[in-house]
Amino acid sequence: MRLVIVGSGVVGAACAFTAAGLGAEVVLVDADLPGQATAAGAGIICPWLSHTDDPVWHAFACQAAREYPALVAELADVAVGADVSYRQVGALLLAGDSDAGERESQLLRAGLAAAPEIGEVRVLEPAEATGLFPPLRPGSRGVYVGGAARVDGRRLRSGLVRAALAGGAVVKAGRADLAFRAGQLAGVDVDGEFIGADSVVVAAGAWTAGLVALAGVVVRVAPQRGQIAHLRMEAADTSRWPVVLPASSGHYLLAFDDSRVVAGATREAGSGFDARVTAGGLDEVLTQALAVAPGLAAASHVETRVGLRPADPDKRPLLGPVAVNGNAGLLIATGLGASGLTLGPLTGAIAAKTALGVDQPVDLTPFDPLR
Ligand SMILES: Cc1cc2nc3c(=O)[nH]c(=O)nc-3n(C[C@H](O)[C@H](O)[C@H](O)COP(=O)(O)OP(=O)(O)OC[C@H]3O[C@@H](n4cnc5c(N)ncnc54)[C@H](O)[C@@H]3O)c2cc1C
Repeated sequence: MRLVIVGSGVVGAACAFTAAGLGAEVVLVDADLPGQATAAGAGIICPWLSHTDDPVWHAFACQAAREYPALVAELADVAVGADVSYRQVGALLLAGDSDAGERESQLLRAGLAAAPEIGEVRVLEPAEATGLFPPLRPGSRGVYVGGAARVDGRRLRSGLVRAALAGGAVVKAGRADLAFRAGQLAGVDVDGEFIGADSVVVAAGAWTAGLVALAGVVVRVAPQRGQIAHLRMEAADTSRWPVVLPASSGHYLLAFDDSRVVAGATREAGSGFDARVTAGGLDEVLTQALAVAPGLAAASHVETRVGLRPADPDKRPLLGPVAVNGNAGLLIATGLGASGLTLGPLTGAIAAKTALGVDQPVDLTPFDPLR
């Protein structure tokens, strides 16, 4: 069976990896459009603090976080030594005062039975918080969540693509349009070249709505710009610094191995496909970062990344088959918004199995792309 996957962000790359492993003939197409979300994503894997009131999203996100370590081990094996930079560094939820910290830790402990992957939960003394993340404002209070992790989206995507290639997938550069023969979806046209397919998975992130509109399919996914600053703390060993999540804002800090500290991020609904760094966006992320961690003031500014999150109004993934003129053959996998590096590998794997008719345990009814 030949599967064409449009989009090789985390979702499409994970789909290609799983489908190739299941023996499908896989063609993964990407136009390398400016604003790919996966290349800009911060990479925080910590869904238990999102305080969502959607149990479907929560269960899916917990499963996605739980399955990460096994995926990372598999990639290191299949893609021969691929280090996707995933590490369980823990998260520090900054609470305003000790009462708020105690409340948060109780909520988290209550969730441990259903989601043991949350890991260790404990209220930290201020000295402990700055010990874990030295640039923090002295006196910062917080709750430590041991199971939280971080991953670099670029390295994850590249590991997934390498593993898909090792499984026989073919990667094609170019912009795909859905292609029809006798009124039926027959594959894609990539810059004028027809590539036939038994099934097409559209994992085109924020660009999905425009692509599937050609098949008369309407989905509610739209770009939400995120700007995120990368700083370097010269000579600091940042490799085990935890993710920092101030309870008072949607901004955050995290670190990677190369003395790199990442300060994110703007959430700009209505941005359209404008993937520029703006003065206001950069000001917002730096101001928020320095308010929480004044010790970052002397860090070098390395770069600012910009990604277009595929956002949908109810924040649930859009995942499942969609009939075109009454026929099967199209599957949509997108809408992961601000949590796509967490949910992407699981979403892509389910997309692959569903497209290939292989059993998978998640009920896709609540994820219907046309809901
Ligand atoms: C600043 C920022 C911070 C984030 N932080 C986190 C975080 O901490 N944790 C977390 O879990 N998530 C985070 N996210 C969210 C996450 O990055 C996204 O949800 C996820 O990367 C979306 O992946 P995707 O594969 O759906 O889309 P994308 O990565 O955008 O990939 C879509 C791909 O489709 C291609 N494409 C589109 N149209 C076509 C076409 N017609 N033909 C060929 N190719 C096409 C594009 O070139 C692109 O490569 C963050 C996002 C941003 C922007």
